[in-house]
Amino acid sequence: MDFPAEPFRIKVVERIKRTTREERERKIAEAGYNVFAIPAEDIFIDLLTDSGTSAMSDNQWAGIMHGDESYAGGRNFFHLQDVVRKIFGYEHFIPTHQGRVAENLLFSTLLSPGKVVPNNIHFDTTRANVQANGGLALDCAAKVAYCPDEEHPFKGNMDVELLEKAILEHGVANIPVVMLTITNNSGGGQPVSMENVRQVSALLHKYGIPLFFDACRFAENCWFIKQREPGYRDKSVLEIAQELFSYGDGCTMSAKKDALVNIGGFLCTNDGELALRIKTKLILIEGFPTYGGLAGRDLEAIARGLEEVVDEDYLAYRVGQVKGLADELEAHGIPFIKPAGGHAVYLNAKKFLPHIPPAQFPGQSLAVELYREGGVRACEIGSLMFGATEAPEMELVRLAIPRRVYTSAHMQFVADVLCRISERKESLRGYRIVWQPPVLRHFMAKLEPVV
Ligand SMILES: *Cc1c(COP(=O)(O)O)cnc(C)c1O
Repeated sequence: MDFPAEPFRIKVVERIKRTTREERERKIAEAGYNVFAIPAEDIFIDLLTDSGTSAMSDNQWAGIMHGDESYAGGRNFFHLQDVVRKIFGYEHFIPTHQGRVAENLLFSTLLSPGKVVPNNIHFDTTRANVQANGGLALDCAAKVAYCPDEEHPFKGNMDVELLEKAILEHGVANIPVVMLTITNNSGGGQPVSMENVRQVSALLHKYGIPLFFDACRFAENCWFIKQREPGYRDKSVLEIAQELFSYGDGCTMSAKKDALVNIGGFLCTNDGELALRIKTKLILIEGFPTYGGLAGRDLEAIARGLEEVVDEDYLAYRVGQVKGLADELEAHGIPFIKPAGGHAVYLNAKKFLPHIPPAQFPGQSLAVELYREGGVRACEIGSLMFGATEAPEMELVRLAIPRRVYTSAHMQFVADVLCRISERKESLRGYRIVWQPPVLRHFMAKLEPVV
């Protein structure tokens, strides 16, 4: 077992409940074999998402007590603005209550029907917000992003040639912004290299198109740059982040990821006119521009979280814990997308359960078994999630690791559960849908085992 020691000690604990196999059998059947329908209290290790599930530090909790709940001009806004300017370097900072609101504000302001927004790979909410505003959400990731077994240090990179082709095909006037998602969540939490950021930036500046980062996991991305890209080993993660953001014109951010809080987001831009238009809209849907849908105390927790997330002891532990889990799985021949991402390990269910056809949801079968065997909750990303509209290439189960929440022993427990499942994996069965809603069916679908 090769897990880095946690660079923190534990001051407050939260009980998690052990259940018996009989209890879990009953609960998963009652839930229609859909892990979203299981009450969180009946989960032992919850790896459904890393979003909004971080543990805050004593320093952040102290910041909560330092909340200034003035309607306008509260001190926490100015603190957060200072921290954001230090790391991201952009002129204008607009708080929102989630990342998707920043996306909604940006795209509803910049897009009209027929406009095109390229990205390495759009995250679901980004894609949905582009489409809801009449735009075309275009993925331009490098081909290696789609090769699950290929080790590559920067699998999140944009295909710069493909991007230029798209610009020429659709016309500069139809591309109001290009996004770059760091790390690339939908592509397995894979990082983008500084060299690729520089190339994308140079290309876009040639055509006069602004570059915005989807910056949710910027610190994890910058840690990978420090580890993997020549010339960055002696730079601090803060310096790497400052350089990276200097190549862009703005960003959207979900603070529920690398700001180490449970709620929040923001948007940054260097464009004063754009900022003004967005702030006007913000007042309509979120609140006054110095709180943007959040309490003053939340802004303080975000400011302190951003200061903590660039700490390199933290990042070594964070990314090391995810890799430690992946290494355990590798040692036991359990297939996952290579290399492990910054925030999650994506199990390759198609390879793990070749006897279950995609139409019988091999990813869901594995997700159900993780709960049955050990009370572990994970998220299917395959035919159940996407199969209603397209046939996805991969059948994945994402083990997303919350930040600072679980210990290495918990990770070992998850690996052991998977090893036990692996020993009898031929006995796992497929599932069929007995009821599904018309959209986003994976959240609410009811299933039953195929006999
Ligand atoms: C989570 C996420 C978002 C959306 O943020 P919310 O705070 O959940 O609204 C956008 N992009 C990426 C890459 C994300 O991971």
